[in-house]
Amino acid sequence: MKRHITCCQCGKHPLEKNEIGLNKKLLDPNPAEYYCLECLAQYLEVEPEYLIDKIKAFKEQGCTLF
Ligand SMILES: [Zn+2]
Repeated sequence: MKRHITCCQCGKHPLEKNEIGLNKKLLDPNPAEYYCLECLAQYLEVEPEYLIDKIKAFKEQGCTLF
């Protein structure tokens, strides 16, 4: 069963596959809580564009999370 994941900060849901993948890549392979892209950027103190670039880079590496 597919579980809808909600952002633990702003309550956005469902999170996109890319957002879920970023949490797994940047925070924890099996995070207890997930952040949407914007909240994750705030949490990590980076620009959202930085995370979008990360998603692109992970895709190019053929990462299966994206
Ligand atoms: Zn959020």
